[in-house]
Amino acid sequence: MIIILFGPPGAGKGTVGTLLSKDLNIPLISTGDILRENVKKGTELGRRAESFMKSGALVPDKIIIRMIKEEILRLEGGFILDGVPRTINQTKILDTVVNNPYQVVYLDAEDDFLINRLSNRRICRDCGRIYHLINIPPKKEGVCDRCGGSLYQRDDDKEEVIRNRLTLFHLKTRPIFDYYQKKNILKTVDASLPLPEIINLIKKNKSDSHKR
Ligand code: AMP
Repeated sequence: MIIILFGPPGAGKGTVGTLLSKDLNIPLISTGDILRENVKKGTELGRRAESFMKSGALVPDKIIIRMIKEEILRLEGGFILDGVPRTINQTKILDTVVNNPYQVVYLDAEDDFLINRLSNRRICRDCGRIYHLINIPPKKEGVCDRCGGSLYQRDDDKEEVIRNRLTLFHLKTRPIFDYYQKKNILKTVDASLPLPEIINLIKKNKSDSHKR
């Protein structure tokens, strides 16, 4: 089974992808996570991607496709994609790499909701747990409830960078919606719903598509 999770920054693709991956027992390929890991380790890929990421720009298509192609071919039958495709060009190239049928889930949300969510997001440096300063604040400021690690804000979660990312999303990524809608494989889910409901809707879609 192949699921492509797609939507604006802050819609919750990472969180939904992680839960779905555990629930359905299929691996998650997150381009953002792979890139951040490479930046952290200071690899050649990380050095090339870092400045794009810091400013909220898109990393060039060629780098992204090269980075995930092998993994996609290796996992052929089942995986969840989070964060890719992000341009029509990536979408078309993916179609030449992915040989099996797939479903696309669009996590939909308004810009104001996304700005609020991203600008208040803090992440634990040690265990990766995600907080929201207003909705899910840590008990002690700057400290993870679960492991005691320190909380940080992603460089690209600063408000001016978020606005850049959203502008790019509307310009470059949103057109992918029409591409998948024409193929009749797109399901839109309201990203502001509670997480368990989002997961259920996606899973329901999966079983419905088996019945078709
Ligand atoms: P994310 O964690 O998905 O929000 O990704 C963080 C950053 O990584 C993005 O703002 C981009 O700079 C870069 N990135 C991740 N995936 C892609 C992609 N498919 N195409 C281009 N840039 C990407």
